[in-house]
Amino acid sequence: VNPISAPRGTNDVYPPESARWNRLEGDCREVAGRFGYGEIRTPMFEATELFVRGVGETTDIVEKEMYTFVDKGGRSMSLRPELTAGVVRALLQHNLLAQGAQRLYYLGPFFRYERPQAGRYRQANQFGVECFGVAGAEADAETIQIAALLIARYGIGDAELHVNTVGDPVCRPRYREALLAHFRPHAEALSADSQRRLERNPLRILDSKDERDLPFVATAPKLIDLLCDECRAHFDALLGALDALKIAYVVDPRIVRGLDYYTRTVFEFTSAALGAQSTVCGGGRYDGLVAELGGPPTPAVGFGLGLERFLMMVAAAAGAHEPPREGVQAIALGAAARARLFPIVAALREQSPRPTFADWSDRKLTAHFKLADRNHARWALILGEDELARHEIVVRDLLVRQDRRLPLVGPPAEVAQVLAEMTP
Ligand code: ATP
Ligand code: MG
Repeated sequence: VNPISAPRGTNDVYPPESARWNRLEGDCREVAGRFGYGEIRTPMFEATELFVRGVGETTDIVEKEMYTFVDKGGRSMSLRPELTAGVVRALLQHNLLAQGAQRLYYLGPFFRYERPQAGRYRQANQFGVECFGVAGAEADAETIQIAALLIARYGIGDAELHVNTVGDPVCRPRYREALLAHFRPHAEALSADSQRRLERNPLRILDSKDERDLPFVATAPKLIDLLCDECRAHFDALLGALDALKIAYVVDPRIVRGLDYYTRTVFEFTSAALGAQSTVCGGGRYDGLVAELGGPPTPAVGFGLGLERFLMMVAAAAGAHEPPREGVQAIALGAAARARLFPIVAALREQSPRPTFADWSDRKLTAHFKLADRNHARWALILGEDELARHEIVVRDLLVRQDRRLPLVGPPAEVAQVLAEMTP
């Protein structure tokens, strides 16, 4: 029979990679917790209508990238292509805003029908935070600091923060007109995508990576020159807050979110290590979204950070860094040694939080040492026939290559206790 492959654009995660995932997810939770953010978990699929309204009908995501299906009840459902819309839906459904401002984080998969390539998958994972009910720029800076702390924790030096403002319902319509006036005379020269965007959503042309659009994008008017007073004050406050946090940034007028409910702040973290898919984290303020989804007008700001891309960035930054050695490889040579070591290993696993590796099959000593290397074990416990005859066990430090001997006397739990202390 032919073996079955995973769907294109999906990934299996297994050791040792899964340990990196667990560590990163743990760090996301821990950093979010420091800022007082609590976890929210929402369904993997929702009514398609939620994403049409909550992500936007004119976005690539809704136009081309959704996994949409009709369920057996005849309803149109979609696998979530991002998590914010579901979070807002849950917030409204459970009336959480009645309790005041909400600070929430999420961690989990999303689904987009995109052309698979490095850093772009059909099922991928995001860590994201959302702060609802706080209008001031402190909240924008706070969410940015969450991502910055996580990046700093992994020692990623080349990550860059780009910030911009997309204005609000007061100044953006003025900007839209200015863009139309700029692009219309060159409509013929623009890419097909951008020609289509021209009347529907000219802001999105600024986002284009198409060669034909770039010269016109470069000379386009900048919103930063047309901001209303409130948006100008908000942007200045954000930059001031980032300065106070000593978070470096570049003001980048090219980052846009072409949807009406995005307001003011938009930002991205990028890394050259990621190649073409250089954005690891994208976020901003969306003061219009809660109302768009049927709730009360509620200021909101948040980001989504791609975990696959984050781990790619970590791998590039770490280079040939070996993970630290930890735990014990228990090695028994021969049936009698195995019988003696088995309950000691069992007791070690009850007593020590570090891993105890043991391979109970009949192998040569060198094969056991290979396993110890593969497991990144720090210590080896060696019980061969000689040691057994002398009633002792060898404790080898695999890092500094040094042996110590421990008498094998007393019940397994007691031997294990001494071993645990010898192999910190
Ligand atoms: P891109 O510019 O790469 O298409 P996007 O604007 O579609 O990104 P967002 O919707 O802002 O991305 O999602 C936030 C983050 O999720 C991105 O910065 C990226 O790290 C990650 N991401 C987005 N799409 C994918 C994908 N198909 N595969 C893996 N990660 C992704
Ligand atoms: Mg995309």
